[in-house]
Amino acid sequence: MATVAVDFDGVIHAYSRGWADGTIYDEPVPGAIAGLRTLMRSYSVYIHTSRSPLPVSEWLSEYGISALPETEGQIHEFWNYRGHVLVTQRKLPAIIYIDDRGLRFETWEQTLADLPVLAPGHSLVQEQGGHRDYSARPPRT
Ligand SMILES: [Mg+2]
Repeated sequence: MATVAVDFDGVIHAYSRGWADGTIYDEPVPGAIAGLRTLMRSYSVYIHTSRSPLPVSEWLSEYGISALPETEGQIHEFWNYRGHVLVTQRKLPAIIYIDDRGLRFETWEQTLADLPVLAPGHSLVQEQGGHRDYSARPPRT
């Protein structure tokens, strides 16, 4: 069973005011609950969040999504179940990660070029003396 990881804030929880007071204060992103249900028919789905898993699970349950919070006593190496989403703070293996702040990595050159476009206002500091070649491999020893 292929696994899909889904970010919580900004993808499921609308997060219109950002972190704010740390509570889960907002409505679902339009289409989020139906979208999760669609994913859950074909994939094992887990929710990847920096929040504590329990309140996220409770919030999802209020919208009819069966969610299991990961606890210290029950750590999962993989998530291969359908019918329930796991809520975890850890990044487990998945075939795809759905995230509103993702940058698709292809090469370091592309990544460093895309970053200032996707995160405006945060410029990269260049090394003194010119451009660093990120494609260079370390010398063999
Ligand atoms: Mg997010």
